[in-house]
Amino acid sequence: MVCPYCNKNMESGIIHGDRYSIKWIPQGKDKGIFLSPFIKGIRLSDKSSSNSVGAYFCNRCDKIVIDLQEDNI
Ligand SMILES: [Zn+2]
Repeated sequence: MVCPYCNKNMESGIIHGDRYSIKWIPQGKDKGIFLSPFIKGIRLSDKSSSNSVGAYFCNRCDKIVIDLQEDNI
């Protein structure tokens, strides 16, 4: 994947979750980690499989991009 900020190639990698699925929650709805399983958000990983998500890192911009439409690892 090409970095959307600097247009250089990004390094592919993986983010591993812990007990619960990794989820993006809008700032105003966040109630902390213990309530996160009950709050609607965008699920990034699937707990039933490896609970991990593929991601791309740009070391020039210090940005990580997750493509939700890609098959996650
Ligand atoms: Zn970049």
